[in-house]
Amino acid sequence: MRRSVVAGNWKMHGSSAMIEDLVKSLASRVSIDTCDVIVSPPFPYLSLVQQLTAGTGIGLAGQNCSEHTQGAHTGEVAADMLVDLGCEWVILGHSERRQAGETDAQVAAKAAAARSVGLKPILCVGESLAQRQSGEAVAVVTTQLAAVVKDLAAGDVIAYEPVWAIGTGETATPAQAQEMHGEIRAFLAQHQPALAEQTRILYGGSVKAENAAELFAAADIDGGLVGGASLKADDFSAIVGAAP
Ligand code: PEP
Repeated sequence: MRRSVVAGNWKMHGSSAMIEDLVKSLASRVSIDTCDVIVSPPFPYLSLVQQLTAGTGIGLAGQNCSEHTQGAHTGEVAADMLVDLGCEWVILGHSERRQAGETDAQVAAKAAAARSVGLKPILCVGESLAQRQSGEAVAVVTTQLAAVVKDLAAGDVIAYEPVWAIGTGETATPAQAQEMHGEIRAFLAQHQPALAEQTRILYGGSVKAENAAELFAAADIDGGLVGGASLKADDFSAIVGAAP
C-alpha cells in the first residue's frame, strides 16, 4: 500500500506574519500518522517555516530549483541550498512555470540536479483544456513524463495537474482523474517496471475539503497537490484528514 501524500503549494503568497499563523495552526491540526504532509512556501520564507515546523513531521518543499549547481546564476536557487534550508522535496515542472517557458528538458535537468543532492522531486504534468478537448490529453502527459521517466528514482512523486483545473475551481471528476492516473501508472509500468507500483501519483487542480475524499478514494490517486486551499489551515487540515 502506498502511503498518501498531501502537499500544499503556497505559490507566491504570504508574509512572515501570515505564514507564522498558518504554520502554527497547521502544526496543531494535521496528523502525519498515515500521510506525508508537505508545505511549499516561497523561497524567502523557507527558513522561517523550517523553524516553525521543527519536530512536527511536516515536510518542506521548494517550489522550483535550478538545473545548475551553485555559481554565477543570478536569481536562481540551487538544489543544495534547498537541502540546507531543510527541504526534502522540490516541486518541478508546475504548469505555471511551464507557461513561463520551462521545457520538458529543463524539468528533467532540474530533477537530476535535485536527486544529486538527495532532494525528492514532485514532478508535475498535465494538459490544457484545448489539449483535452482535442483528445490529446494522454499524449501530452506521456510526452511530459517521457522526459523524466528514464531517470525516475524511488521516492520521486508525480503530480497530475490538468491545467484547466488549477486555480479555476473546476476539479477533474474522480473518474477523469483516475483514468489519467491509470494511464500514468501504465506508462511507468512500461518504462520503469520496478517503480510503477510504488510511485505515488498525486492529483492537483482545485482540490478542496469537499472533494478530497472522493478523489483520494480512487485506486491510483495517492494524495493531492493543493494550491489555494493550502493557504487556509482549516481547509488544508481537512484535506489531509481525507487522505486514507
Ligand atoms: C497548484 O497550484 O498546484 C494547484 C493545484 O492549485 P489549486 O489547488 O488552487 O487549483
